[in-house]
Amino acid sequence: MKYFLAIVGGGPAGYTAAEIASKAGKDVVLFEQNALGGTCLNVGCIPTKSLLYGAKQYYNASHAQKYGVTAENVAFDFAAMQKRKTIVVRKLVAGIKQRLNNEHCTVVSGQAKVLDNIRQFWRIECNGVEYEAEHLMICTGSTNFVPPISGIKDNPAVWDSTDALAATELPQSMVIVGGGVIGMEFATLYHELGVPVTVIEAMPTILPNLDQEVVQVLLDKYKKAGINILTQTKVESIDGNTVHYSSLSSEEGRGEVSAERILVSVGRRANLQGLEALEGLELNRGAIVIDEFCQTNLPKVYACGDVTGKIMLAHVASRQAEVAVEHMLHDQMVNVQMVNYNAIPSVVYTNPEIASVGLTEVQAESMGISVEVRKLPMTFSGRFMAENEGETGLCKMIVDSRTGTIVGVHCIGNPCSEFIAAASCAVRNGYTLSDFQQVVFPHPTVSEILHELL
Ligand code: NAD
Repeated sequence: MKYFLAIVGGGPAGYTAAEIASKAGKDVVLFEQNALGGTCLNVGCIPTKSLLYGAKQYYNASHAQKYGVTAENVAFDFAAMQKRKTIVVRKLVAGIKQRLNNEHCTVVSGQAKVLDNIRQFWRIECNGVEYEAEHLMICTGSTNFVPPISGIKDNPAVWDSTDALAATELPQSMVIVGGGVIGMEFATLYHELGVPVTVIEAMPTILPNLDQEVVQVLLDKYKKAGINILTQTKVESIDGNTVHYSSLSSEEGRGEVSAERILVSVGRRANLQGLEALEGLELNRGAIVIDEFCQTNLPKVYACGDVTGKIMLAHVASRQAEVAVEHMLHDQMVNVQMVNYNAIPSVVYTNPEIASVGLTEVQAESMGISVEVRKLPMTFSGRFMAENEGETGLCKMIVDSRTGTIVGVHCIGNPCSEFIAAASCAVRNGYTLSDFQQVVFPHPTVSEILHELL
């Protein structure tokens, strides 16, 4: 059988593409070597959020007194949290399987290998069987990057994010190398469950790509809560359970810190296994180069998701998949909407959460945009006050001062992840302050902080 589309990788990019193309009546085959859902569903977004929610419940119960609730002997059962996480993941994976079955998509469980292109059909081998497809979509994702630091390899004390998610017992103490998104989410999880945590970050600040005024709110809270955060600090080597580091800010010199577990979370790299036969496939820093419709430089070969190294987020992957499939379905007509990389929301699930979309003040200024920055503490929202006793937060809106267009929104404060989509709409559609002013926000909700800024 000849397929219209063969997809390698069943994460958010792959399964979204498979569902859309199958729904459009096309014959689709999808290859997945592990579980459907990819990193996001199995060892990323969903399991992390399940465990973080457990930790947050524990945190809230332990701090219930500030709401006039007395809870004695508050405790948690880590094994039960893990069990619940596994059930959540299992149900969601089954849901994807069901959806693809409903659309009559062929799902092949195994490691696919692209062989060649013969008479304009891509040949792919999996489990000893050959498949042919007119279009090929590479959605092979990414894996944890292992930096060339001596003492990481084969060290049982060292974890990557997958190990940190699968832990059966809480460690006595933890060092996290890398204060990026993964590092700070795990710092939150383990700290809230009572594990002493040290974060080591090479840059002058944690979460270096985010608005730093927003990050400062988190830093202040986490430092006060006892998370040890060392910035401008480079890990030199790891020896068993001890991390040796040197400070990049001259005076402080060298030091070491020991912990039962050392989580290394210093970024991820594109997965290119099984694609060796795609001679001439253009790469940039180990990721597949794509155009605005997610086409690679090879004919009828698309790539979506982390493997493109664009922005490693599940919702970027699924949006890329929508664009790519639209493009191939319409025989590459150019009226397909492209991915708007300027309006991609992102969330860091710390406590409080950080959510942002669009340009930061620094980015806008470096692009020569003259900006007006509007900001308010979250406590301007009545709902925030009602539900976040003793907490602080901040919401910033970055406006192009020449046109009044909203180019970015950055917030910290629960539950900003739930309303950043409203800000994404504004940035995506080029709303001016007065356009956004006409949008009615429900009262009382924390989202009203956006309206307060207009
Ligand atoms: P990251 O790039 O976000 O952060 C890695 C951090 O490690 C950086 O701050 C970097 O300066 C630091 N670093 C690098 N080498 C170091 C060293 N030797 N010593 C100390 N610090 C060092 O990468 P990540 O946190 O591993 O996340 C990987 C990808 O997964 C990211 O693209 C992220 O956006 C995505 N992700 C997203 C979410 C979410 O959306 N909530 C959650 C998890 C992961």
